[in-house]
Amino acid sequence: MRKNYSQNDETPRRISLTDASKQAPAITARGDSLRLDEGAPPTLNDLAGALQFALGDGRIWLSDERIVLMQTRVLGKLRSQMIKEIGMDRTRDICMQVGWDEGLKLAELVRTRFSQDDMTAALAAGPRLHTMEGYAKVITKRFEYDVAKKEYLGEFYWFDSVEGTEHLRSFGVCDCPVCWMQLAVPSAYSTALLGFPVIFRELECVGQGAERCVVIGKDVESWGDDVPELRLFGLTESPKKKSKPWQPPKSVPMGLPTRNEAKDDIIGESPAIQRTKRLVDKVVAFSEPVMLLGEAGSGKEYFAKHLHSRGPTPNGPFVSVNCPAYEDSRPDDADPFLGEGGYIDQAKGGTLFLNDVVALNKSLQAKLALFLRDTTRKRPSLRVIAASGVSPTDAVANGALRSDLLYYLSVLPIQIPPLRERRDDLPALIQHFFDTHCARHTKPVAGLSGAVFDMLLRYDFPGNLHELSNMLERGVIYAEPGGQVEISHVFSVIENAPRISRRIGDDGNVYRPKSLAEVHAARTLEEVEVEAIRTALLDADWNISAAARKLGLTRARLDYRIKKLNLKKD
Ligand SMILES: [Zn+2]
Repeated sequence: MRKNYSQNDETPRRISLTDASKQAPAITARGDSLRLDEGAPPTLNDLAGALQFALGDGRIWLSDERIVLMQTRVLGKLRSQMIKEIGMDRTRDICMQVGWDEGLKLAELVRTRFSQDDMTAALAAGPRLHTMEGYAKVITKRFEYDVAKKEYLGEFYWFDSVEGTEHLRSFGVCDCPVCWMQLAVPSAYSTALLGFPVIFRELECVGQGAERCVVIGKDVESWGDDVPELRLFGLTESPKKKSKPWQPPKSVPMGLPTRNEAKDDIIGESPAIQRTKRLVDKVVAFSEPVMLLGEAGSGKEYFAKHLHSRGPTPNGPFVSVNCPAYEDSRPDDADPFLGEGGYIDQAKGGTLFLNDVVALNKSLQAKLALFLRDTTRKRPSLRVIAASGVSPTDAVANGALRSDLLYYLSVLPIQIPPLRERRDDLPALIQHFFDTHCARHTKPVAGLSGAVFDMLLRYDFPGNLHELSNMLERGVIYAEPGGQVEISHVFSVIENAPRISRRIGDDGNVYRPKSLAEVHAARTLEEVEVEAIRTALLDADWNISAAARKLGLTRARLDYRIKKLNLKKD
């Protein structure tokens, strides 16, 4: 459960420090940036790997968050308009609150995508992300921390800060530091990772005419008594009085952090699913027949159950009929619907769900139409929800569906979008199915590897939610206990691994990564080896030791192979 530290509704998304400290990496309780191994992950390259351009799909992803490219002048314009309309103080507060939210998201990214135990490396990734996002070139002077004592001290330089530059452009030299949004990002990032409040302040700023911005981060105690940022960030509870000393987590948490969703909630916030949700909310309280339309696997039965559990008879029976089972009619067949103990009897006081209703044979369609005609005249004894994967009007046109049955069934039609039309919901859905299958198979899996996440975000899902669920179930079952779900666990021969996405290369260019098939189709063993070594070297920024670790070789052995294969850095 999240705990609120403030009643003020205007404060940004809050985090519980208790939660944060539970999620803090287990091993390093204190550290110093000066002692950090230079090649320690996540490197700038690792982080750039989380940035994906799904060209033509209208999406850029930073791990599971959608981002946009925006000119810095637009950001500057937005900022200067705010200052003119509501004043410097309010604008600063709002910018800082927005930056706080961003910092929390980045901490979550590093925690879930680069599951690792080194707190120093995790903290060091913050300035790298800040640099990668293009806000400023961040130079880490030094930072040190002690989790048990709740101490943090860090000093950073920001060169060419976007906010400072834009402020200068709009207003000229200012008498106070102005990189407000950027400043709250490391505050939130460090606070979320360390589990106690860390506040950053700007001592010098390019907006004041300085050569570069100088930024200092400290724990609250070190800042002294007056720390107004605590209220601004919703951290008003004094850390001195109430927080318990930090304890390392007892075990690796199972899976990714879970979100609290009611059991049969419709997951997703994309415009397409919101349209559907609005329709569902409108019809939910009525007893009139509902027709659910959507591709195979898009979740029609799930929606039917949702309507049932929130409808007028949530405690009544939910009877699901698979209509293709009654495709052929024989004259001597007993009537499965109207007969004694038939589906209609069973569903009395509840919901009768007719899946793939178009497949029902004509004789049963006629009987059902007659039944519905009679019940619509009086108070119905059950609710009928029908579903179809094909257009019912087409089915009427080609003679597969009786027009009167369609007329009775489709009083309230609801279209369910296919997964490819609600791609923004993918991160939440991936999370949901991953959690569900981990729980169902009671298997501790550390999470999805970044590469799997990227592949899933790019995949087209012709089989919709069913397919996504199947893939994640397969991933959970095939993953090593306590390990991560990898690409080979999720994508089998059935699916064509996606290849529409682009990444940032080391040269800063956007390029299309090779598909698995292309990689495997390499002709000779030597070519495969060259490819593997080259990739490892590029990933490790030509740090030979780090690349050797990645490849499972000794440094000497890799050195030898590099010379033998005549690989050069260029
Ligand atoms: Zn500045």
